Amino acid sequence: MKASSKFDYIIVGGGLSGLHLSHSFLNDKYFNNYSFLMIDKKKYKKEDNFFSFWEVGNGKWDKILKQKWNKAYFYSDAGKVVMDFSEYNYKTLSSTKFEEYVKRKIKKKKNFKFINDTVLKIREEKNKLIVVGNKKNYQAKHVFDSRMLSGVYKEIKKYTFLKQHFLGWVIKTDEKKFNKKSFVFMDYRIRDKNYTAFTYVLPFKKNEALIEHTYFSKNECNREVYEEYIRKYLSKYYNATNYKIIKSEYGIIPMTSYPFYKESTKNITKIGTAGGWVKPSTGYSFKNCEKYSLKILEKIKEGKKFRIQPERKYYFLDKILLGVLSKYNHRGETVFYKMIKRNPTKRVLEFLNEESKLFDILKIIISVRSIYFIKVFIKSLYKKVL
Ligand SMILES: Cc1cc2nc3c(=O)[nH]c(=O)nc-3n(C[C@H](O)[C@H](O)[C@H](O)COP(=O)(O)OP(=O)(O)OC[C@H]3O[C@@H](n4cnc5c(N)ncnc54)[C@H](O)[C@@H]3O)c2cc1C
Repeated sequence: MKASSKFDYIIVGGGLSGLHLSHSFLNDKYFNNYSFLMIDKKKYKKEDNFFSFWEVGNGKWDKILKQKWNKAYFYSDAGKVVMDFSEYNYKTLSSTKFEEYVKRKIKKKKNFKFINDTVLKIREEKNKLIVVGNKKNYQAKHVFDSRMLSGVYKEIKKYTFLKQHFLGWVIKTDEKKFNKKSFVFMDYRIRDKNYTAFTYVLPFKKNEALIEHTYFSKNECNREVYEEYIRKYLSKYYNATNYKIIKSEYGIIPMTSYPFYKESTKNITKIGTAGGWVKPSTGYSFKNCEKYSLKILEKIKEGKKFRIQPERKYYFLDKILLGVLSKYNHRGETVFYKMIKRNPTKRVLEFLNEESKLFDILKIIISVRSIYFIKVFIKSLYKKVL
């Protein structure tokens, strides 16, 4: 029997959600007398990815931002839209910087510990939980678990399920090619017309930018497919053929209406992707991780259940939007064009961040209306699982 260490709370996984939750706990004096353990199978992540999100004004991550923008462009065959990010700023940071920042804070706290171990399973016993690690067992009163269990992947497939899959390059050009004052939110002009696919550009310097080709579709592509679209895009819109690729990133993010919150139990709260913290219709999760972490703290203080459930109205709207993208995948460009063209950027961003007033939600719904939405909506009335 391996030795066991006791904690009030254990956070399994020091990825985006685990780090956000840890950061919220260690910043709140209320929890100074509670003990915490964060366990991750990796000591430090090798990959350095870019995490982007939008928020109003100054925020708690401003110290470690790579860049922020207050203007963006949306391009489609139907036209160009200038997006005003002056209220909700678009911000990007490096995942490595974020991890280092939170782990530095963890090191300074006496009641917080980080251990590098692989969690094999979590056993619920009377009034305690045993987290079974590869090296050791750990005991807690409550566990926050960001592992995606293999059984869940099977279940997800019964629901509407798309993947946001993408490949991006950070490139350095010889000449000044980019305007670092604005970024490209979505560009649908060069893509496979059978799918929802677009290019995303974050200029960091006049000669340095992240260019990503992204799909919202059912299956990933070979690397060469994304790379070819990036090359074409750079050549056509930046007249750039001479550049150095200084970094590349690749990702697959699940976009699904699967009700992840049901995986949580009284003593184990699923967090992150495994807890449904990824916005199903956009694949963004950074802001949700921050928001839901704070919600968990609030619930603990109020003595309430920790389960985090999406607001019904947003869950329903995500389901419909995802249903349209899934059934009519080539129509994604039109859906996003209508939403962005017919609404002020602030209303769209509030909606995607789930911070809208009902009246604004109705305006968004009216703006994207089409026969496809009506068909999916009708289907949702009689189909239990969409
Ligand atoms: C290249 C890339 C770019 C992205 N860009 C953005 C973006 O701009 N904005 C945005 O909002 N989202 C972005 N995402 C998505 C975002 O990274 C994920 O949604 C987010 O990481 C999910 O958080 P998580 O905590 O659930 O999972 P993760 O961040 O993957 O963390 C899970 C952690 O659990 C650990 N772990 C797993 N199994 C075990 C085990 N058995 N024992 C111990 N530890 C374990 C893993 O090592 C990992 O550290 C991007 C993703 C990628 C790949």
